Amino acid sequence: MYDLLIQNGKLVTPDRIYEATVAIHDGKYAAFLDPKAEVEAKEVIDAKGNYIFPGIIDCHAHLNEPGFEYREDFETGSRAAAVAGCTTLIDMPLNNDPSLLNKEIFDLKMGKVSKHSVIDYALWGGIVGDYSDDPNGIKSNIKDLVDLHHCGVAAFKGFTCPNGDLFPTVNMGNVRKALETLKPYGALCGFHCEEWGQVYEREKEAKAKEGRTNEEKIRDFLDAHDVWTEYVATKNVIDMARATGGRVHICHVSHPMVAQVVKDAIHEGLPITAETCPHYLGFTEDFVFEKGAPAKCTPPMRTREDMEKLWDYVLDGTLSCVGSDHSPAADEEKDNATKDIWHAWGGLNAIQYFLPMMFDMVVHQKGLSPSLIAKVMDYNPAKVFGLYGRKGAFEIGFDGDIVILDPEKAWKCEQEKLLTKGHVSCFNGLEGKGTPVCTIIRGKVVAEDGAYREEAIGHGEYVTPVK
Ligand SMILES: [Zn+2]
Repeated sequence: MYDLLIQNGKLVTPDRIYEATVAIHDGKYAAFLDPKAEVEAKEVIDAKGNYIFPGIIDCHAHLNEPGFEYREDFETGSRAAAVAGCTTLIDMPLNNDPSLLNKEIFDLKMGKVSKHSVIDYALWGGIVGDYSDDPNGIKSNIKDLVDLHHCGVAAFKGFTCPNGDLFPTVNMGNVRKALETLKPYGALCGFHCEEWGQVYEREKEAKAKEGRTNEEKIRDFLDAHDVWTEYVATKNVIDMARATGGRVHICHVSHPMVAQVVKDAIHEGLPITAETCPHYLGFTEDFVFEKGAPAKCTPPMRTREDMEKLWDYVLDGTLSCVGSDHSPAADEEKDNATKDIWHAWGGLNAIQYFLPMMFDMVVHQKGLSPSLIAKVMDYNPAKVFGLYGRKGAFEIGFDGDIVILDPEKAWKCEQEKLLTKGHVSCFNGLEGKGTPVCTIIRGKVVAEDGAYREEAIGHGEYVTPVK
């Protein structure tokens, strides 16, 4: 007798959609059965003809614990993710204090976060340079990377542009050294690609202008982070992959010109992968002018033409993963009433509508198959971040993760429904169709109909790359 059966669902994979009953036992997929098969189980869930995904992986999320729990912690971030149909997230090594830079900090972080995550999680480790303004500040952690790799982090993240003293910028020397150090272990290094020099100079010049209206400041911000900053950093980082043979992942590609650089590198045979985010696929500069501070992120949203063209690179597999880049802030750090575009937190409250937004765009707006969702939000992230073998597909023995999604059920982003700590989100007011109605992790229901289960707090497990 199985522990759990999910009946009457349509299983969505990157290649096809088919009807089957999913049987889960001891937290793992145990069988995929003919819908008419009569089998027994302790519990049966009726998927009512809805789509079933084998989990959804958010490969890029900042949950801010330890250090900035006033913005978000693992409990609040993961419960918001759970109701949104996310089963695994990969947490960024920043915005943390301390940032995840060595084994000691890994132990400290695990001591906190392992107690209360609702969903499964993997971790990004950090790579930092020597560029803190503080003379007693953080020094390069290259010597700590191998130890951190042995802690089971799924990838490493570095920042090529100014990002504050807790996570100092890497230059190409640091990037090269990190790739050389980690190559023997096959570890993946991801980078936020905006070139330091251009961002620094252009921001300084723009901020010095006097008497600018809010609208003019937004134009200045968008210009300071224009595509050339992202393009140059991406090319540089790819050159370091070419020089070392190390595996490089380009985070949150926002522009087709950058995606083309990635595509050329993949064609050349370089070990490059890349991701984009829903906000670069569905929103433009106009949205930043309309919403102001709540829509501030870097790289910023681009023009309509750029946004439309970016889809080509999702469809051809260049941008193989889509992550939320959820980067929460306290309301007063992100609100138009308290902050202009320069002083607002740079990051979006995005995780609770990650899957619904993508589903609406892919299926209802673009008329594409939900298989694309299974591919870029589950199968590919599992492959890229080494979780395949446990996550990412309907395979016997993989974790019994299930997301049941009603394709026609309407949703609306509303401030009062947000389960994150911050309630300012540029997506508030947005509407669409395609709602996750049940999220199951390793055979256990963690969220249903927009509410998380209290008893699921702490159910989330640390997942590491499959050897
Ligand atoms: Zn990020």
